Amino acid sequence: MPSHLTLTVGNVQIVALTDMSFPFPMPLDELWPEVPVEAWDEYRRRYPDTFRDDLMLIEIGCYLIRTPQQTILIDTGYGPGPIESIGGLEGELIDHLKAQNVQPHEIDTVFLSHLHSDHVGWNTIESDGQYVPAFPNARYVVHQQDLDHFRRPDIQANQSIPFMGPSVERLVDLGLLDTLTGDKNLTPEVRAVHTPGHTPGHMSVLVSSEGQQALIEGDVFVHPAQITEHEWNCHFDYDWPLSNVTRRAMLRTVEDKNITVVACHFPLPGYGHVVRENGKRYWKPSA
Ligand SMILES: [Zn+2]
Repeated sequence: MPSHLTLTVGNVQIVALTDMSFPFPMPLDELWPEVPVEAWDEYRRRYPDTFRDDLMLIEIGCYLIRTPQQTILIDTGYGPGPIESIGGLEGELIDHLKAQNVQPHEIDTVFLSHLHSDHVGWNTIESDGQYVPAFPNARYVVHQQDLDHFRRPDIQANQSIPFMGPSVERLVDLGLLDTLTGDKNLTPEVRAVHTPGHTPGHMSVLVSSEGQQALIEGDVFVHPAQITEHEWNCHFDYDWPLSNVTRRAMLRTVEDKNITVVACHFPLPGYGHVVRENGKRYWKPSA
């Protein structure tokens, strides 16, 4: 049943799923170190549903892609929790998946845009004292550079949630994790595109079918203000200059080709377009 959560792209359906939504517990001047707090005022007015009091209200969106050949899940949220670093919240992804009449065993591919704790949490679940895949028939896909990067002890030490063992290495041990080294079609309609910067192996997903296109951008843009202020980096962007290059290139592409953008950290369902007002770019959510 199509709803505002469903985006149809030719013969492909994208369905927005949420794991949770909450005010991110980090002051704006820490989350966006280079951005003066007053610079947010314009964007608080323009995008009021992305703030709660002085904190950024963040959606943890995941996306189901249904093609004629495959059912693909893009990212797996924070996981079952309770997640101590964000106030003990518990993820709801599986409930929302089932509400779409999709069972975990029906997922063929779990595609991980990158290896941050808010994108890999439901990769595995605990059962009888060990971690098992939450999607028992799926192969999991990530970029090789993210696997290499997040295996570094210095990088692991910086993560507030120690996700690599239970959510990633466990899949490696079970032989379920495939790695990509460049752009690659997952199906004829679904193409993984390397968009580095936020993390070294960050990937976006371009869906093309019957002359229509949508781009699931991952964390290239974390807040809609970055559509206008593409040089604004967030605390979690690993390589700031490269993040900036990737954002500029993506903005040009989606604007030139009028591609629907799918943004997992924008308010649900995260579908929208880049539009111009007085020469500046802005985010326009789909109605
Ligand atoms: Zn994220």
